[in-house]
Amino acid sequence: MKDKMLKFVKVDKQTPNKRKADNRLGDFKEIYDEFIHNKAKEQSSRCSQCGVPFCQVHCPLHNNIPDWLKLTAEGRLQEANELTHSTNNMPEVCGRICPQDRLCEGNCVIEQSGHGTVTIGSVEKYITDTAWEKGWIKPIKFSKEIDQSVGIIGAGPAGLACAEELRKLGYKVTIYDRYDRPGGLLIYGIPNFKLEKFVVERRSNLLKESGIEFKQNIEIGKNLSLEELKKKHEAILIATGVYKSREVNLPRYNLKNIFSAMEFLTASNRKGLGDKVKNFDNGMLNTKNKDVIVIGGGDTAMDCVRTAVRQEAKSVKCLYRRNRENMPGSAREVYNAEEEGVKFIWLSNPKKFIGSEKISSVIVEKMKLEGIDSSGRKMPVPIQNSDLEMKADIVIKALGFDPEDLPRLFNNSNLLVTKWGTIKINFKTMETSIPGIFAAGDIVRGASLVVWAIKDGRDAAISIQKYLEDKQANKIRAA
Ligand SMILES: Cc1cc2nc3c(=O)[nH]c(=O)nc-3n(C[C@H](O)[C@H](O)[C@H](O)COP(=O)(O)OP(=O)(O)OC[C@H]3O[C@@H](n4cnc5c(N)ncnc54)[C@H](O)[C@@H]3O)c2cc1C
Ligand code: SF4
Repeated sequence: MKDKMLKFVKVDKQTPNKRKADNRLGDFKEIYDEFIHNKAKEQSSRCSQCGVPFCQVHCPLHNNIPDWLKLTAEGRLQEANELTHSTNNMPEVCGRICPQDRLCEGNCVIEQSGHGTVTIGSVEKYITDTAWEKGWIKPIKFSKEIDQSVGIIGAGPAGLACAEELRKLGYKVTIYDRYDRPGGLLIYGIPNFKLEKFVVERRSNLLKESGIEFKQNIEIGKNLSLEELKKKHEAILIATGVYKSREVNLPRYNLKNIFSAMEFLTASNRKGLGDKVKNFDNGMLNTKNKDVIVIGGGDTAMDCVRTAVRQEAKSVKCLYRRNRENMPGSAREVYNAEEEGVKFIWLSNPKKFIGSEKISSVIVEKMKLEGIDSSGRKMPVPIQNSDLEMKADIVIKALGFDPEDLPRLFNNSNLLVTKWGTIKINFKTMETSIPGIFAAGDIVRGASLVVWAIKDGRDAAISIQKYLEDKQANKIRAA
């Protein structure tokens, strides 16, 4: 036992948050590990090796799921780990937070036949967590460093995946990010109860050890211009995500105690990471003992309500203007939130914020669904004289995100964007309208998923490699 612990501490020396998490398990860690091991083996052996791997087809990374399930069932975890890493830069992240019910697991043949899916995500997490603990995941090694460099704007999953793939090929890579920590929404958006922060820190530390340079607290367009970046690097990737919160267009929207989802979640994540957060420490962003109203029906809204529950809010309500069936968030998340005591007020819309300095209540109007809107969904229409007043000590707006105005922020009108503000790319090469500048992740797709950001980052790396090789060949020809 002592030897095991020593080995464990050695492997995890770089992630104090991981040690904290394991210490919480105390003497139960060994029993817990054994249980998880047996569960993963049992689940893996349930795969029928059906030969029509819909799970693989519906995984955006086309992970070789049947093969790594087979290897796990046979106890060949090191090989299973190599296989998961051959298509995915962060299997332990995807295993934890992919909406598997809509992707791999939802399309498992066993699930389709009514016998309950193989829990693919948790097996993926198990394989990779074991690999980390055993020390099988090592910094990148390559035979020769290539004298060409790539600048990546954004240390979210798209930027990190692209950086890793390029570094494996030997390129010099520098990542610039305006946050103080790498990870993007993995670190400050997604709550700790879904994705523990040591998991993200462990990955970015590995990339640092692999020679990828991280420049935190640097905002491109503010601290460094795109033009300056172009002079420093042979190619650039824009992977800046989408951060402009959609607003509730009501008077008094700026009352104290009305916050955006990102303000709320970032504060909560920072507290979890041990930071001082003024507006949390003074009680404003802390929902303990408060009546909380969250507006919105997507996964971000679910993260807000479930975070408020964990902060021991007095009551948590979620207002959504359509009904359960038309909700954009995952059904599983709604179920989890309801289990935890969140009250969903379906077919309801905020009409008025009440309060002089701080919010005290929200007037909510009831809605009905009529006709179909431009998105193809049923249209919410207010019901006359249906107003209700709901007490609120804090309101959190979780209505989704739009891209920031990047051509303006980067002071470059040659960077073309779509009518939604996402960056226009050539979908074969991921190159933007500016040669040598590529884009990936949410800033291209709009708010999406981590697994798609990873896929985009990997695809962008392939195109950047081709671009740099052509550039080098032209240079040699011209010399
Ligand atoms: C609350 C929340 C919960 C979510 N939960 C899930 C989930 O459970 N499962 C799932 O699959 N997906 C989830 N998502 C979506 C997922 O997090 C995103 O799709 C994914 O992180 C996008 O990756 P990205 O690399 O494109 O951008 P991001 O992760 O947003 O990273 C972009 C990075 O760019 C940096 N940046 C931006 N502008 C600049 C600039 N000018 N200069 C320098 N740096 C800059 C930012 O600081 C950030 O670090 C969630 C999203 C939110 C908001
Ligand atoms: S990456 Fe996501 S979709 Fe693909 S196998 Fe893993 S959990 Fe399923």
